[in-house]
Amino acid sequence: MTKYKLEYIWLDGYTPVPNLRGKTQIKEFDTFPALAELPLWGFDGSSTMQAEGHSSDCVLKPVAIYPDPARTNGALVMCEVMMPDGVTPHSSNKRATILDDPDSWFGFEQEYFFYKDGRPLGFPSDGFPGPQGPYYTGVGYKNVGDIARTLVEEHLDLCLEAGINHEGINAEVAKGQWEFQIFGKGSRTAADQIWMARYLLLRLCEQYGIDIEFHCKPLGDTDWNGSGMHCNFSTKYMREVGGKDYFEALMAAFDKNLMDHIAVYGPDNDKRLTGKHETAPWNKFSYGVADRGASIRVPHSFVANGYKGYLEDRRPNSQGDPYQIASQVLKTIAEVPTADSAKAAA
Ligand code: ADP
Ligand code: MN
Ligand code: MN
Ligand code: MN
Repeated sequence: MTKYKLEYIWLDGYTPVPNLRGKTQIKEFDTFPALAELPLWGFDGSSTMQAEGHSSDCVLKPVAIYPDPARTNGALVMCEVMMPDGVTPHSSNKRATILDDPDSWFGFEQEYFFYKDGRPLGFPSDGFPGPQGPYYTGVGYKNVGDIARTLVEEHLDLCLEAGINHEGINAEVAKGQWEFQIFGKGSRTAADQIWMARYLLLRLCEQYGIDIEFHCKPLGDTDWNGSGMHCNFSTKYMREVGGKDYFEALMAAFDKNLMDHIAVYGPDNDKRLTGKHETAPWNKFSYGVADRGASIRVPHSFVANGYKGYLEDRRPNSQGDPYQIASQVLKTIAEVPTADSAKAAA
């Protein structure tokens, strides 16, 4: 038997943005445990905005497990928060009730800032570094400094070793700003991996005295870009059938549901989606081929393939909850009749 260090990780009850929480329990197993072997566990919800003081036990229900590359015999255990009965989802537990479809594919582009001493990494203690321009995909000390790339590379390796479907990294437009991309099939699978990748990034940076700023516009109304979490999405029908008529009906549904999308695309998005800095205004829906100033960018390949493939919703922001983002995308898609559903109804 081996003693495994199981890090149970969950989202707390803070609003509008939950924090990641985690605690360790040691359990013995013959080999690396399967999800079904992991017991329920509890925590004090009164310390996480998930319960009142007098009756404060909440239940942690494991829903995904990954090897923890930073720990000997470690495992990262994604959990849902349940009521004391162990079966009723807690009101903060969004994952339990979202729409899912294993044939829907999601690629999230998570942007963020490294922060040190209350300002973006690489900013002087007074004033600003040189204006935006050379930093995006940049190389060289004057563009990316001496530590950011080490962190980004270490994070990439941690994610890959944990089995997270990390797809790539790039330095972003603002100094101290970076991006990673994660792809998953099914909204829960993709979103679990984003939350786990966020966890690994936050934990890695502790030892460097560096924080991650996920706010979508940390430098306010200035000429510094905000941070998004573009959501690239496709369903089986979009990939295999698609077509111009279906695409146009889909875009009409996205237009109609504008407010439902914005409601779950992350807080303070009006400060980011201004119409400047490669964004579309938050309160007006638009789409365009290869248009990085539209709400939804339609890749060239989508049109070239007969309106088949994936689309990029550029509005979700860096602090958004990927569970709710993916679910809202699926909800709007579900409103649009497909040729199959029309045939079934006839
Ligand atoms: P850009 O920065 O040009 O917007 P990225 O390369 O950062 O693009 O991100 C593109 C994302 O699209 C990747 O996360 C990738 O996984 C995702 N993607 C590619 N094909 C599909 C697909 N068929 N369905 C959903 N997402 C996809
Ligand atoms: Mn990108
Ligand atoms: Mn980007
Ligand atoms: Mn993008």
